[in-house]
Amino acid sequence: MAGPREKAIIGIDLGTTNACVAHVRNRIPRVVPTDRGNLILPSVVALGERGDFLVGGVAKDQLVVNPKNTIYGAKRLIGRKWNSRVVQELRSYYSYDIVEGPNGEAAVLLGGKVYTLPQISAMVLAHLKKIAEAFLQKPIPEAIISVPAYYSDPQRQAVREAGKLAGFEVKRIVNEPTAAALAYGFSRGLDQKILVYDLGGGTFDVSVLQLNGNVFEVLATGGDTFLGGVDFDNRIIDFVLEDFWRSHRIDLADSPIAMQRVKNGAESAKIDLSLVPNTVIDLPFIEEKKGKPLDIRVALSRQRLNELTLDLVERTFQLCDQVLGDKGLKPDDIDEVILVGGQSRMPLVQELIRSHFGKPARKGVHPDECVALGAALLGDSLDSIDSVTLVDVLSMPIGIATPTSQFRRVLDKNSTIPSSRSFRLPPPREPGQQIEIDIYQGASDQIVDNEFLGSIRLPAAATGRRIDFKLDEECLLKVSFDDPEKGMTELKIATRDTPDALRRALADAAEAQKPKEGEAQPAAGEKRGGLFGWLKGGK
Ligand code: AMP
Repeated sequence: MAGPREKAIIGIDLGTTNACVAHVRNRIPRVVPTDRGNLILPSVVALGERGDFLVGGVAKDQLVVNPKNTIYGAKRLIGRKWNSRVVQELRSYYSYDIVEGPNGEAAVLLGGKVYTLPQISAMVLAHLKKIAEAFLQKPIPEAIISVPAYYSDPQRQAVREAGKLAGFEVKRIVNEPTAAALAYGFSRGLDQKILVYDLGGGTFDVSVLQLNGNVFEVLATGGDTFLGGVDFDNRIIDFVLEDFWRSHRIDLADSPIAMQRVKNGAESAKIDLSLVPNTVIDLPFIEEKKGKPLDIRVALSRQRLNELTLDLVERTFQLCDQVLGDKGLKPDDIDEVILVGGQSRMPLVQELIRSHFGKPARKGVHPDECVALGAALLGDSLDSIDSVTLVDVLSMPIGIATPTSQFRRVLDKNSTIPSSRSFRLPPPREPGQQIEIDIYQGASDQIVDNEFLGSIRLPAAATGRRIDFKLDEECLLKVSFDDPEKGMTELKIATRDTPDALRRALADAAEAQKPKEGEAQPAAGEKRGGLFGWLKGGK
């Protein structure tokens, strides 16, 4: 008789706040407990006092006393350009230093040294690998890693790189909602439309899927990359700071250590209120006035929390309706709602799910674990007879810049993956020069608001020839063109720097926003002069 069936592959949910790892044994997926016996590992990396790297709970524990050297929320930065709007906004939000990496990407400073985000995420992944290997008592060379459905091509590539740096062969990058759907519906022979409602630490994602046996087809996807648990925390933080100001006329926002304690207190109160109707935020010795210690002691009820955050929850339902509307669907058409992400545990979310969809969210699918479980199931099913078929969609359009800096869509939102589209190459901008095409991804009609993916360049003689934009099954972009001599040939997408048009637009936007004195930052290329060298045929 055959022994237990267990492949040397794991599924990893690399979350903004927490990561989770799972494996499959005898077709049953299970979460691997971390070294502290928990089922999740904080996605935090820190440089300890002795110059050693700390990962997970130990790193999170020292966040309050060592905020500059503690990296959290790496998932929001990975694969993004340093001078992108998102990164520039996050710079003022995070306590650690976000700097420009070697290739114009966002990177972080730890102990005065620059680390790329794939390097940081690789430390979390390597830690998970170690945990899984110790638990399963064998080497685990392969992994499936999940990413948000809205991740762009460079973000996916960066996660792949992190996996490689951690020593994995990354068999697949899978979209989180698809993984959650797998955890719910794998091998159950269902014929249902489900909605995956994923409210995590920093982002809200919603996807609608059609399940048909082991075919998992994403119909539409959407969300908001700036709506998540931290926004709920911020409402509580404001409430506490206002209370403290009223009592003592002291603005705690000026003290980073006090603020970190208030943030932690606010988050714990929020989590408590998912279980109990009343709590107290109790932070002794938070400040000093005339030599006397001052404490925070603020009562907060679930009712009050609901009032403070109702608009945030309502926004998630507007987004659900938008995604459903993209496919001409209504809340009534949904058979099951699956909850993912820690913030979806809030009772208000669950109440409003019930009233909005006319049915409660599906019980038995664990919001913190289902993505890792689904990823593990996918890993286990690869190359087997009962393997699943995943039909995903593109979450944000991919297109090219027009000469007037507008965005021309080539692959539309919700295009089925894999997918491809062809067009004819336009003439060069100046006669006789190379044809240069700048590729972007995003929802806006203006390139400046979208993510720059890279550029391709071709000789002027290629004008009018066919060019193909193709998305593979992992949503990675491949571009090829019909070379008169070699036939269809894949082109290298150069992502070394941001194109001139975008740089100008960003500079204009920065000018319009009039940065405060002393805060002006030169744009990436200005510091290096890299862009101009590159355009002139440099590296
Ligand atoms: P995730 O990114 O899925 O790990 O979600 C983390 C977010 O969920 C954080 O903002 C947490 O504060 C929040 N969270 C975790 N547990 C709960 C809970 N029981 N009730 C409300 N929010 C929670």
